[in-house]
Order: sequence, then structure tokens, then C-alpha cells
Amino acid sequence: MSRRISIVGGGMVGASLALALQPQARQRGWRIELIEAQPPASGALQPSFDARSTALSHGSRLLFERLGVWAGVQAEAAPEPIRQIHVSDRGHPGVTRLHAEQERVPALGYVVENAQLGRALLGALDERVVQWQAPARVVRAEPARTGWLLQVEQDGQLHEQATDLLVLADGGRSGLLEQLGIHRQVRPYGQTAIIANITSSQGHAGVAYERFTESGPLALLPMSAGRSALVWTQPEAQAEDVMALSDAAFLHALQDAFGFRMGALKRVGARHSYPLSLIEAEEQVRTGLVVLGNAAHSLHPIAGQGFNLSLRDVMALADTLSGAASDQSPGELALLNGYLQRQRQDQQQTIAFSDGLTRLFSNRRPVLAAGRNLGLLGMDIVAPLKSVFARQAMGLKG
Ligand SMILES: Cc1cc2nc3c(=O)[nH]c(=O)nc-3n(C[C@H](O)[C@H](O)[C@H](O)COP(=O)(O)OP(=O)(O)OC[C@H]3O[C@@H](n4cnc5c(N)ncnc54)[C@H](O)[C@@H]3O)c2cc1C
Repeated sequence: MSRRISIVGGGMVGASLALALQPQARQRGWRIELIEAQPPASGALQPSFDARSTALSHGSRLLFERLGVWAGVQAEAAPEPIRQIHVSDRGHPGVTRLHAEQERVPALGYVVENAQLGRALLGALDERVVQWQAPARVVRAEPARTGWLLQVEQDGQLHEQATDLLVLADGGRSGLLEQLGIHRQVRPYGQTAIIANITSSQGHAGVAYERFTESGPLALLPMSAGRSALVWTQPEAQAEDVMALSDAAFLHALQDAFGFRMGALKRVGARHSYPLSLIEAEEQVRTGLVVLGNAAHSLHPIAGQGFNLSLRDVMALADTLSGAASDQSPGELALLNGYLQRQRQDQQQTIAFSDGLTRLFSNRRPVLAAGRNLGLLGMDIVAPLKSVFARQAMGLKG
């Protein structure tokens, strides 16, 4: 019996799931619909494939290899290897360095531009099993006798589509969750991330810098062509002023916060800002329904864990569905609960790591500042502790 799986949202997570389901879809005759509100080649970038860069962990590289798309990602997105991660606290001596050689991996992670990663992922979709509907917006979803019924708006027309499994990968501002009464816990950080590409006189030498400053944590990640991708967290009240600075004043303020580890900061590209909250959906599965990606959990970007965690969710869901019996619907609740059980610990651990790190390093209380510096110094000395940190940062469990 031919089954339908409808993925709402063709961002990085939705596109990755479509890819991960392709082999099973070919074997079992499943039909996958990827429904995306934004037109793919319009220049108006989807939230996922916007101007940002993403630090893919070593674990995500292994997963993309399993999906057979890593070569395509390399060709399309020229991922820049992270050879070293340097963690420091402004005005304090603690420094931790993680090295790829010490962790016995070719690189701790890779930085890719979202738009290029998006091209590589969408380019690997097999049209025989994945039907790409864009621009098309799912405006309503309701449970049907078997599966779900979707109302889709496309070319100014509304039509209905039935599906056996509905996957909501429609991002952090998912209106559909609200419509379905799925509550999301929102814990605002009171911070805004400012992102931009930076060039410096000495370049990055493959080093990703994480630095904790009075205004909030900042990261400079190595990118192609000697550029670095900046994620600079600012208190909400200051962010607008920092966004309004001239390029020269912005570089000056950044240099002051970051120091001269990469020499003089020379140029800054277009700046964008994102308000930050930790958001978790209170339900991730129902009969015939799974919530994935930012719709399920949005994390602070400073630890670079959001997409990496979602990719592990994607692979776990695809593996679980591939274990379904031939007469079993992919929307069966027992199957979907099995997926969630399998991923829950990873989700909780990753959210705790990312949230804990953010809150610890956003806090200027002297006791905590002293503690975290001992932590950074200690971590540089105690190899096993550092390896635990490195394995979480690299997206490897255990
Ligand atoms: C500044 C910043 C830096 C980050 N850096 C990293 C990093 O280094 N490493 C990392 O792992 N993570 C990082 N993240 C997190 C990462 O960006 C997210 O995990 C990822 O973008 C989530 O993708 P998504 O596909 O779930 O959601 P989105 O990117 O929001 O995509 C959702 C898609 O759904 C579509 N859509 C919405 N509603 C509908 C509808 N009703 N019908 C049809 N389509 C719809 C939208 O058009 C969109 O294309 C960062 C985040 C930020 C903000």
C-alpha cells in the first residue's frame, strides 16, 4: 500500500529528512511531499537558507556521509574545517583549547554557509520519490480517520491533501503548532544575536573562537576565503544601538571585545539580528504527527548545537520508520513514540549543555566568573573532562 509522508517546511531540517527517507521511499513505494512556503530560487531566502552560516559538528559530517550527500556539500558549500576551538573569558585568564588531532578526528567541525548547504541538500532530492511543492503554504492541518488532512495554499488556490504522516519542520515561528494546541515553553534569554561575516589581517588559521564578554558570548567561526562568521550576543536593550553603528565603529567595538587573536579586524559584511529564546514544544509526537527542528526545539546559537541536534533527530526518525512492518503505517503512534524515546535523552542532554553554557557565560556574578575560569583552566589541564566537552561539541555521544 502506497503511503504518503508530508513534510511542512523545506528548510535545512525538512530537506534533510526528505533525503534521509529517500532510500526507504524507493524501496517501499512511499511518496514524500516537501511543502515550502518560500519560492526556492526567488532570492527571498528561506529562514534556514538565509545569510547565516552553520557549524556542522564532526558527527553531522558522518551523518551526511551516511546520506551520501557529503561529497555534494563539499562541492557546493566548500565547508571550512575547524581545526581548533579556543574558549576564553574576557578579562580573565582561563582558556580552553580543543584540538582536532587530540580528539583524533580530521576536524572538530565544519562551517558552511546556509544558502550553499541548502543548494546541496535540495540538489540531492530524488524527484521520483520526493515531490517538492514551493511556494506552497500549509494553512491548516486536522486529524482525519486515517492520518491527517492538510489545506494547502498554492498559486492563490486552496486545495486539500491527505497524508499518513505529517512532519512539522516549519521552524521557530510555527503557526501550525498553535493551531493544533501544542504549547511551546519559551524562556527568553533577553539577548539578541548579531551575525555578520568578518575579515581580519591575520585570518583564522582554522580556529573557532568562543569568547565570553560583559555584553554576552561571542563566536567567530572560520569560513572559506579567510573570512570568519561572527555570532555576537548582545543584551536586547543594546542590540539596536550596536546594529546601528557604522562599519568602522562596529569593528572597533568588536575588536575591543574580542582582542587581537586574529590581528586587526578589517571588514564586516551585512549584519542581521535574531532575538534569542530557548523554546521547547511540549508535545513532539501524536498519531500521524511528528514535530522536528526549530519547531520542536530552538536553542541559543552560541554552542552551535541546534541544527546538529535536529539532524540526529532526523536520522533517528528515518531509522525508526525504516523498521516499520510492511503493513504498518508510518504514522502509527507506537512507532513515533519509539522515535521520541530514542532521541529524548540526546535532546535533553544537548539542550542542557547549550543552555547551561550560555547561562554560565552570560552571568557576570564574581563567584560564577571565578568558577567558570577555574573550569576553563581545569578543562585545559584535565584531558578526560575536556574530551567530554569536545564530544558534546562535536555532536558525538558517549
Ligand atoms: C544566529 C544563528 C546561528 C546558528 N548557528 C548554528 C550553528 O552553528 N550550528 C547549529 O547546529 N545550529 C545553528 N543554529 C540553529 C539552526 O539555524 C537551526 O537549528 C535551523 O535553522 C533550524 O532549521 P529548521 O528547518 O527547523 O527551521 P527554519 O530554518 O525556520 O525553516 C522552516 C521552514 O519552514 C517554512 N514554513 C514555515 N511555515 C510554513 C508553512 N505553514 N507551510 C510551508 N512552509 C512553511 C519556512 O519558509 C522555512 O523555510 C543557529 C541559529 C541562529 C539563529
